[in-house]
Amino acid sequence: MGLRQFHCGIQSLFEALKKAGADAPRNLEEQALFLVGRDIYEKLIKGYTEKQWGRKCTDLPPFIIKRLPVRLAFDNNYFNDKYQGIPIGGYNKLIEGLLKGIETQVNTDFFANREYFESIAEKIVYTGAIDEYFNYKFGKLEYRTVRFETETLDCSNYQGNAVVNYTEREVPYTRIIEHKHFETFGDEVYKNPKTVISKEFSTEWTEGQEPYYPVNNDANNQLVQQYKALAQNEKNVIFGGRLAEYKYYDMAPIIEQVLNIENF
Ligand SMILES: Cc1cc2nc3c(=O)[nH]c(=O)nc-3n(C[C@H](O)[C@H](O)[C@H](O)COP(=O)(O)OP(=O)(O)OC[C@H]3O[C@@H](n4cnc5c(N)ncnc54)[C@H](O)[C@@H]3O)c2cc1C
Repeated sequence: MGLRQFHCGIQSLFEALKKAGADAPRNLEEQALFLVGRDIYEKLIKGYTEKQWGRKCTDLPPFIIKRLPVRLAFDNNYFNDKYQGIPIGGYNKLIEGLLKGIETQVNTDFFANREYFESIAEKIVYTGAIDEYFNYKFGKLEYRTVRFETETLDCSNYQGNAVVNYTEREVPYTRIIEHKHFETFGDEVYKNPKTVISKEFSTEWTEGQEPYYPVNNDANNQLVQQYKALAQNEKNVIFGGRLAEYKYYDMAPIIEQVLNIENF
């Protein structure tokens, strides 16, 4: 195909997408159709998104899918970042290093001893759920969580990759993580005859579970504004992160956000 034909093809693709009403998408489905068209939407996005969020694509806001990078190129990276990776030894090792010499209590619920924690600090960085902080005064926000099923298998290599996503609605999990591939490459993979995999099942959050993802639909976004207005009056508390801000963050953006906080 010549360059001119290629441009014409792209042009007509965008014309078709525009006709689908997608220049002002009202929901995730319309946004996805605008970005990738119906074939890719139905094969890769619809089933995966609906099991991830437990809601129909037509009931989800369009901005969720804007994070999906679409490139007309052979670059199969998910992110566009120049440098990508995870800390050697994992995030726990990194955090343990950062907190070395600093008194730390883990597995401790702030609300189990709220008065005490408030009395010992001039400034609090609160990373828990914002509705819980205000005792669910205006009602509960919705969250999604993930149930992990982890297995040790008697083979040295299960899927050849750290992450494989299952986009079909019929497969109950969203993806399988094979942990060794984050840090072991080439022949090293085969040195250990076993491997550990985790299947991720996305479910609605209920009390007692750990909330992971805010559900940023219109109702929740309106509700969180009420909590955020209260949070502004808490002068000695910094509300930070995906639960306290009720906002989806990847690792790099949340770290950047923390580095930019003023008046720590
Ligand atoms: C399954 C999964 C996979 C992910 N994969 C990726 C990925 O591949 N790439 C990527 O970039 N990002 C990924 N993320 C996102 C990444 O984990 C987040 O961006 C990051 O953890 C956000 O940091 P945070 O500080 O906002 O929240 P968190 O890391 O959740 O930190 C909040 C902390 O507050 C604590 N807390 C909450 N309530 C209380 C309380 N009442 N008392 C005491 N402590 C409390 C929690 O225990 C937690 O330690 C993934 C997230 C999940 C859930």
